[in-house]
Amino acid sequence: MASKSEILIVGGGVAGLALATRLGKAMGKPGKARITLIDKSFSHVWKPMLHCFASGTVGNENDRINFITQASGHHFEFWPGEVVSLDREKHEVVLSPLHASDGTVVLESRTIKYDTIVIAIGSCANDFGTPGVKEHCLSIDNLVEANAFNEKFRMELLRSFANNSELDIAIVGGGATGTQLAAELHKALEIVGPYNLHAFGKPPPKLRVTLLQSGPRILPAFPESVSAAAQQELERIGVTVRTSARVAGANSTGFILKDGSQVSAKLRVWAAGVKAPEVTTTYGGLALNKTGQILVNPNLSSIADDRIFAMGDCSFIENDPLPATAQVARQQARHLARYLPAWIEKGQKVPACIFHNKGAIVALGKYNGWAALPGGTVWGGGVSHGLSARLGHLMLYRKHQVEIFGLYRGLISCYSDWVEGFVRPSVRLD
Ligand SMILES: Cc1cc2nc3c(=O)[nH]c(=O)nc-3n(C[C@H](O)[C@H](O)[C@H](O)COP(=O)(O)OP(=O)(O)OC[C@H]3O[C@@H](n4cnc5c(N)ncnc54)[C@H](O)[C@@H]3O)c2cc1C
Repeated sequence: MASKSEILIVGGGVAGLALATRLGKAMGKPGKARITLIDKSFSHVWKPMLHCFASGTVGNENDRINFITQASGHHFEFWPGEVVSLDREKHEVVLSPLHASDGTVVLESRTIKYDTIVIAIGSCANDFGTPGVKEHCLSIDNLVEANAFNEKFRMELLRSFANNSELDIAIVGGGATGTQLAAELHKALEIVGPYNLHAFGKPPPKLRVTLLQSGPRILPAFPESVSAAAQQELERIGVTVRTSARVAGANSTGFILKDGSQVSAKLRVWAAGVKAPEVTTTYGGLALNKTGQILVNPNLSSIADDRIFAMGDCSFIENDPLPATAQVARQQARHLARYLPAWIEKGQKVPACIFHNKGAIVALGKYNGWAALPGGTVWGGGVSHGLSARLGHLMLYRKHQVEIFGLYRGLISCYSDWVEGFVRPSVRLD
């Protein structure tokens, strides 16, 4: 009997986990292929919520999906580890050793073979080599970083409360991550305020958030009207928005701008630019663009090797570049889930993945939100704002949960989040 085809998916993020779950059902369950997911962490989070984890307005215990339980219920296997190299001749990847928190090696370096591999390792912020950023700035590209930021935020808030001083935070990047984080930090402070802090006999802590954007407007992916309205909303809640502010460097007290001025900040966050994780340079000499993203054909196969596919933020289609968004990642995962089985079983070519732009949504905490819908949709296009847009943003996450968990578990998860609201504080306090 011919051995089962080995399908390897590297990265269990928005794209990778959806693909593993769907392929598990289509090919793992009937025994047509062995599907293995590899991720450097043990659980999946919906990355567009990281700014909420960072500010503490959403606790992340309920919002993590454990890879081992997801794999056992959906007919795929899971291996923890970081893929640090790929050998295209031998058709294998190398995983770095897995360490315990005390530094001891739990699992030695391993190699895993594949017949077909899909790389979906996401992206991180791009500091463009700006001096001082690595040493002095925080980022919120994954759960570990978001939690580390939250720990610092809570401690610095407490310190400024004790000293009766203002906590100043500067965020570089006026895209979705930076603007949403600025609003969410204010929301966190508003929730913290009434928690009996007056008992210490001091006024509640104060926050001064500065958002630095190099371009002429924030949220450049949205229509100008949304940028202007979002800036106005941020300023209304107390955020200082500085556009056309190019950062030349960072140090332990703040950012230095190209015009020579200094923006002082106790906490400095870099949330600008997108690049692939540096490790893509060790993936068998695959063709990359200048930010390290894997160059792929319109059907998502790598231009250097048609047995290697890449999707989501770590991939790049040269003639038809798409933004690094969850919407693109999800559509690409669905495309490969649909066409990979016929390619693996019958050698049928995977067709081009056509992106259907369903618009973009941004939510500024509880304050406001905007949805920019493209013309020609059932709603006729245009911009909506307020509660409907904020709910639309939340629905993206709920849709993702239902896609990963299935309808019943997805709904139960929504319900348990709602019930939690009655017994837990609505902001992280420890
Ligand atoms: C704060 C924030 C807010 C955002 N808001 C929005 C929004 O409102 N709307 C929107 O559409 N998009 C938003 N985005 C962008 C969106 O989150 C990404 O486009 C999307 O997550 C990309 O999905 P992905 O599957 O390519 O990568 P990811 O979801 O990032 O997943 C990558 C996975 O790969 C794993 N991994 C990385 N390297 C390795 C390795 N070497 N070996 C093994 N595993 C590895 C990681 O652990 C991770 O699980 C936001 C991003 C951030 C940071």
